Amino acid sequence: MPKYGHGVIGMEKQMESAVSTFNIEESPWGLKQGINHEDFLKIFDPLPEIKEILLTSENVEEARDKLRRFAEDLLWKYKNGDIDVDAMDRWLAIEAINVFLNIISEYGEKAAGFSTLEYLWKATKGDKRVLSIITEGFVEEFKHLFKAMAGVTGYSKGWLGPKLEAAGVKFVDFSKIKGRKAALMRSEYLDKVWEYIKSYLKKYPSGLDKHIIEKRKRQREKLMEYWGITEDEWFDYRWQFSHVLKREKGLETLRELNELGIVKVPEEDLKQVEIAVKYGIPWGITPYYLHLWDFENPYKEDRHVRRQVMPPTWYVSNMLQHREDREYYFDFMGEHDTSPLDLITRRYVTIAILKAYDTCPQICVYCQRNWEVLEPFMAGSFPGWDKIEAAIEWFGEHESMLDVLITGGDPLALSDKIIDKIMSRLSEFDHVVNIRWGSRIFVTVPMRITDSLAEILGSYIEPGKRNVSISTHFETAYEVTPEVAEATYKIRRQGIYIYNQLVYQRNVSRRFENVALRIALRKVGIDPYYTFYPKGKIEQKDYLVPIARVVQERKEEARLLPGQFRPDEPVFNVPRMGKNHLRAWQDRELVGIRPDGSRIYLMHPWEKGISETKLYTYPDVPIKEYLEYLESIGEDPNDYWTIWYYY
Ligand code: SF4
Repeated sequence: MPKYGHGVIGMEKQMESAVSTFNIEESPWGLKQGINHEDFLKIFDPLPEIKEILLTSENVEEARDKLRRFAEDLLWKYKNGDIDVDAMDRWLAIEAINVFLNIISEYGEKAAGFSTLEYLWKATKGDKRVLSIITEGFVEEFKHLFKAMAGVTGYSKGWLGPKLEAAGVKFVDFSKIKGRKAALMRSEYLDKVWEYIKSYLKKYPSGLDKHIIEKRKRQREKLMEYWGITEDEWFDYRWQFSHVLKREKGLETLRELNELGIVKVPEEDLKQVEIAVKYGIPWGITPYYLHLWDFENPYKEDRHVRRQVMPPTWYVSNMLQHREDREYYFDFMGEHDTSPLDLITRRYVTIAILKAYDTCPQICVYCQRNWEVLEPFMAGSFPGWDKIEAAIEWFGEHESMLDVLITGGDPLALSDKIIDKIMSRLSEFDHVVNIRWGSRIFVTVPMRITDSLAEILGSYIEPGKRNVSISTHFETAYEVTPEVAEATYKIRRQGIYIYNQLVYQRNVSRRFENVALRIALRKVGIDPYYTFYPKGKIEQKDYLVPIARVVQERKEEARLLPGQFRPDEPVFNVPRMGKNHLRAWQDRELVGIRPDGSRIYLMHPWEKGISETKLYTYPDVPIKEYLEYLESIGEDPNDYWTIWYYY
């Protein structure tokens, strides 16, 4: 099958691509290939005209031309109000038709690197080879796209509407009732919505819930007994730092804890850690974080914490495969190309990163810097003061640097003395308005936030001149504990704001799971800041979510919270360029659907509209594969049905 049979002028210069990562006709997502022709033709039920055009067209070009005319005509009918559908279904139909036109266009094909239309046309005609490679992911995408184009999705009622209706809760029609009566009915309706949300939130207890606090206390005591230590030692960050589970010794500890029946660890997990340890794949867990697991029931209710530190099979085998070229292969953000000086990464006009410490107390499997952060407290991770000093000088020489983000690794694992020295030097520059520390220490070793550290950081705030802040990284409400509350309060009393950068990976992506996190964060005074689309590389398959899920969460779940609970912005990191705002529909285009159902997006970097820039082509996770994953962990895929309509 030709990749594309025509030229669109100048496109090569305007795009970068991640599409070539894998063969278009394979399904790296593990979806079953092969569809029965009769079943395939059912996708056209909402719009039989499209089937007719495809069946009667002699070739792809003829099909393209006829489909374009059909779709443009349909678009005008919706725009002109000639089709009698609900206002929201009309809006969705217009969106869907635009997507369809993108997909069948030559421009879309060139951008995607293949012809979606050719697969569609051939499958419709019954081409055996094509029918043998497409998956249900492809079928479902088109089924839903055609439903949306036909205005028959039921989207106008929303995903929750029909559930509420079935429970006897009626939407208030303000055109029929007015005044206090309407207000009371509306209030009652909103209370019912809250009851519904609550039924979801129950699934995601926070570490601040009484029964979880009690369970963790028992677990902590078991670990203290195992290590033969006192409570003072447990709560001393130096003890935590020196007892991180890593390398062979950490693996042995984990095995022993399992054998003694203290912490249950599935054999498969131990096997993957063994491979990781043998081949130097990043792995490590702090004792504190270990005690956040459910010792008795692995992966029942603690998947979100275990999976962050226990590498899955797919990840380990991919990391192994690319052991030699790891430094470049996994450098998703292209940091090698954006470092003007050692320890500095710069992608933006007024902020740059200072990497003061290249290691962390523990390793997050989905880490964006897994090519660099190789082991907890890895030897040689502190670059030495001379290098830091040179980097600080660079910030001094660049007046555009309003904000300095000191990160790594986790720089709050450095000593108070070094932290103080960095603060002191950066405070000499009048143009630096904000000194920001990027640290996950609140999650991994919250006891590191001592009074003296908080005081050092706070002492550099100068009202009217300089601010100090912290960006941290909580993934789930389960990580928000009384220890965290104490640590954040120490920091906030110094006048320092704390912001959260969530990596929205699939283990924390169930309905209202992020809402539960936002509520827990509010309780400890942390502002949600970014919701990151995880690093889009195939080795992270077990962590990725479709872009549509990020946008759906924002629209259908986050929106139900008060504004101050949800200031976070969902973003996608374009390699080398930086953040693309996913809420802004105009910042991306859907241009193709692979035979396995993976959507191909053209992402627009942030510089669009400001200066010349390149577009970035990204193949997303097939929605069908993601829904199958949700089902495998006990979720009802029907709860997510509107996901298909976020493009
Ligand atoms: S804390 Fe940050 S830098 Fe460290 S391993 Fe996790 S994601 Fe990577």
